[in-house]
Amino acid sequence: CGITARVGSGDAVDELLSGLRNLEYRGYDSAGIATVNADGLDVMKREGEIDVLCGSVRGSSIRGRTGIGHTRWSTHGPPTDANAHPHTDCLERVAVVHNGIIDNYAELKEELSTHEFTSDTDTEVVPHLIEEFLSAGYPPEKAFRMAIDRLSGSYAIAAVFEGTDAVFGTRSGSPLVLGRSPERYYLASDVPAFLEYTDEVVYLQDGDVVAIRPEGYAITDAEGTTVERSVETVDWDP
Ligand code: GLU
Repeated sequence: CGITARVGSGDAVDELLSGLRNLEYRGYDSAGIATVNADGLDVMKREGEIDVLCGSVRGSSIRGRTGIGHTRWSTHGPPTDANAHPHTDCLERVAVVHNGIIDNYAELKEELSTHEFTSDTDTEVVPHLIEEFLSAGYPPEKAFRMAIDRLSGSYAIAAVFEGTDAVFGTRSGSPLVLGRSPERYYLASDVPAFLEYTDEVVYLQDGDVVAIRPEGYAITDAEGTTVERSVETVDWDP
């Protein structure tokens, strides 16, 4: 029930995990992170407390400057390691986190019947759908957009791609905010996730598609037209 994401200088892992801890108040039954590095994507996800995830992360070599994180509040499929997010496609070219419910997942799963699914979640249709578009030759941002166009339901989604130092996100009926600092950009379900790093926030609106990159961010509508969203300075007691 929480999303974190970050790009920019330094390693992502500690910031993703502290972001997840700061979203614990939203409730969850499992947690996970995915990072991008020179070898591809690293994914670690665990049923249970964030401490369990942290233990597994510490015992691993997971690293990268670009990453996404998730705390799950199960709606489709029990809380298990396999059902925890991030979810990937068969080739591990894309990893996705999602809050909410994809209403048309059964129909999409049917359409993607040649793909091997490894979870019971509604969410897993998203990385497989993106993979279809990647395989058809579309670049990551376009593939992300084309997949999102096919979804109905309520969602906030963030995705990372192998070989790409960007995180793409979108929302429709579930919250997603952007945090801006001089050397890093963040996405999260709520401001406390990144408040210890920046108080400059952009509140995204339903239908917005956002790309955060080390050098900046861009927000567009579903058609790809740039939209302006104001940057606000939040005055929250941490
Ligand atoms: N529907 C998704 C699932 O069951 C996401 C749940 C959530 O919002 O955390 O995995």
